[in-house]
Amino acid sequence: RKGNVIVTGASSGLGLATAKALAETGKWHIIMACRDFLKTEKAAKSVGMAKENYTIMHLDLASLESVRQFVDNFKRSGRPLDVLVCNAAVYQPTAREPSFTAEGFELSVGTNHLGHFLLSRLMLDEMKQSDYPSKRLIIVGSITGNTNTLAGNVPPKANLGDMRGLQGGLNGLNTSSMIDGGEFDGAKAYKDSKVCNMLTMQEFHRRYHEDTGITFASLYPGCIATTGLFREHIPLFRLLFPPFQKFITKGFVSEEEAGKRLAQVVSDPSLTKSGVYWSWNKDSASFVNQLSQEASDVDKARKVWEVSGKLVGLS
Ligand code: NDP
Repeated sequence: RKGNVIVTGASSGLGLATAKALAETGKWHIIMACRDFLKTEKAAKSVGMAKENYTIMHLDLASLESVRQFVDNFKRSGRPLDVLVCNAAVYQPTAREPSFTAEGFELSVGTNHLGHFLLSRLMLDEMKQSDYPSKRLIIVGSITGNTNTLAGNVPPKANLGDMRGLQGGLNGLNTSSMIDGGEFDGAKAYKDSKVCNMLTMQEFHRRYHEDTGITFASLYPGCIATTGLFREHIPLFRLLFPPFQKFITKGFVSEEEAGKRLAQVVSDPSLTKSGVYWSWNKDSASFVNQLSQEASDVDKARKVWEVSGKLVGLS
C-alpha cells in the first residue's frame, strides 16, 4: 500500500514543496493539515498534485481544541498513520507586542511548539498501530535556534533560560510571554520555539525509539529565503534577503530543493537514524549535524517535555 504522511503547513513554502515531491513518487498519500482549506486546494493544484494523492484536513495549530479535533477526524478516516511531519510555523520578527493562541499562549511558541507537541503526543498511538516498515516522526528545526552556527549567533539569540515564562504559561498577563521570562521579542520567540522543536524530537527519541521502532528526526533544510515565513518582515529585508543568501552566505536553497530534502527525511531508506538533526552540504548531500549545547541539553529537553505536557493538558 501507499504510505500515509501528515504534513502540517502544507499550504505553502517547504510544506507544499515536500507534499509535491512525495506525491510525485506515487508512493505516498499526503494529508495536508492546514488552517485554510481553499488556499491549500489552490496550492495543491498549482503545483500539479493529482487528486488521488492527497487529502486536505483542517488543522489550526494555534488552537489546542483544533488539534484535538484534527486527531479525532484523522482517526475516524480509518487511515493508518505512517509518518508525521511537523512543519508549520509562524515568524513575527517585527511585532512590537505579542499575540496569542486560542488558549492564550504567545503565538510563535504556542503554534510552532505547543500545537505540534500536543499533535505529536496524541498521534504517537496512531503511529504505533501502523504496520508500515519505516515509521517516522519529523519535526522541522532551524539553524536560527542553533547557537553553534554563524546564523544562530545573529542577535537576538535563542535562550530558554530557566523556563520561568514557559512554566508560567506564556500568557503575558501575570507572567512573561517569553520562555525565559524576558521582554517580548518576536524573532527570539521564533528561535526559542525552534529550540523546543529540536529538544522535543530528542526527548521523543529517548522515550520511545527503542520500544516503538519509530524514527524521530529533525532537520535544517537550508535557507529558503523566498517562502512566506518572511511575510511579516520589512519590505527592504524581503527584497535583499534572497540575493544576500544566494551570493553572500551561499546558504540559499530553492523551495523545490528544500522540499526534496524533507521528502528524503520522510522516505529515503538510508535516512532511518533516530534522534538526529539532518543538514545538507553544498553538493546537496545529507549529513548528521551537531546541535548547539542548548538544543541538545538532556535536562532542558526533559523539562520542556514536562512543562509543555502540563500546558497542553497532558500529564
Ligand atoms: P511558510 O510561511 O511558507 O509556511 C508556513 C506554513 O505554516 C504555512 O502553510 C502556514 O499556513 C502554516 N501555518 C502557520 N500558522 C499555522 C497554524 N496556526 N495552523 C496551521 N498551519 C499554520 O514558511 P516556510 O515554508 O519557510 O516554513 C516551514 C518550516 O520551515 C518552518 O518550520 C520553519 O521554521 C522552517 N524553516 C524555514 C526556513 C526558511 O529559510 N524559510 C529555514 C529553516 C527552517 P498558511 O498558508 O495558512 O499561512
